[in-house]
Amino acid sequence: MDMLLEFPNMVLQNREGTRYDGYITVMNEDFRLCLEYPSDIAKATLSCDWKLKCLLDGCLDVLKQRLLQSKSLPSFLQEMTRIIEKKLEVTKSTKSNKEPIKCGQIISEIESLGWDRLVSVDADFTLLQFLYTDHKGREHILGMKLHPQHPVEPPQCITDLPVPFDPHWTNKSTLEDLYNQFTHSVNSSQLFWDCMEDIDKNTWVLEPDNPNFSAVYRRIAISSSASVQITVDPRQPQLLPSCRFMGADHSVSQLRQNMNSNLYHWDPEGNLLENLQSLLDVTFPTPTTSKKEEFSMECGICYSYKLETELPNEVCNDSRCGQAYHHSCLYEWLRSSGCIQSFNTVFGECPYCSKPITVKMPTT
Ligand SMILES: [Zn+2]
Ligand SMILES: [Zn+2]
Repeated sequence: MDMLLEFPNMVLQNREGTRYDGYITVMNEDFRLCLEYPSDIAKATLSCDWKLKCLLDGCLDVLKQRLLQSKSLPSFLQEMTRIIEKKLEVTKSTKSNKEPIKCGQIISEIESLGWDRLVSVDADFTLLQFLYTDHKGREHILGMKLHPQHPVEPPQCITDLPVPFDPHWTNKSTLEDLYNQFTHSVNSSQLFWDCMEDIDKNTWVLEPDNPNFSAVYRRIAISSSASVQITVDPRQPQLLPSCRFMGADHSVSQLRQNMNSNLYHWDPEGNLLENLQSLLDVTFPTPTTSKKEEFSMECGICYSYKLETELPNEVCNDSRCGQAYHHSCLYEWLRSSGCIQSFNTVFGECPYCSKPITVKMPTT
């Protein structure tokens, strides 16, 4: 292999023919290189320019090792060329993925959408938040995370809608198109929010604490020993919701019985709250007639209402007692007081009234 033919830009620097200085060209890029290649190969050295050092980051030591083991200078330089080629390919492919989003285009799209609707934007113009106030005065935020290949790939949207937001997007779509689809979805969820707001204002909602627009369930207090958790279909909020009862056995079985006998009277075009009350044959306690503490009964063992996310859902079935406990508190109490265990149920005595009480074993 001829050094001059293979690497014409590496110039011999001394009479002994051991020192080269110059450039090697890889994929149309020049890299400065200086090499000492004496007959005693253990004394060979390699130094390169800053650009090449950065590119070879991490494998320069390996290269120097390869130099000491090389058979000839041209064969070493060929090996080095292949390594540089590979490194260049890797950096080029990652660069094209990180091509910056065209800010000018985004800014003009924000302009046509209206700056007053923009809530926040980050420095790279990749995270944006827009506000929409619906005709009932409820404020909704549409969050967008632009894809690095925007607008070829659609932005990722974050909403507070109770239904999945799955907008139509092509590479010609604009942020305004997305916003308009969002407002359309918000407007079609109005009936759902009306129903939920009615419940939030006129009953004691035990869970969730501060329901957001996407929350489709409510746990409503019925009495100090019973509550119902409803899960509403956001697309058809006036239909019969799924109901789960919680509380003492005698209260719950009465509620189930009422539900079964009144099921056929449900009016699918009527008011959700009124329908629910006729279904269960109850009048929900309201904030105007009662205090929330009457229904958020604390646990008889740990004396708190909320234990992490758990509420006191286990209730003593003796109607004169009716004490509530957290499931985990009662389970631990019964286990430590020498209870009887059968299948997945633990039998023991109520810590308050000493009447028989049972609790299911934790599922984990
Ligand atoms: Zn407890
Ligand atoms: Zn009891």
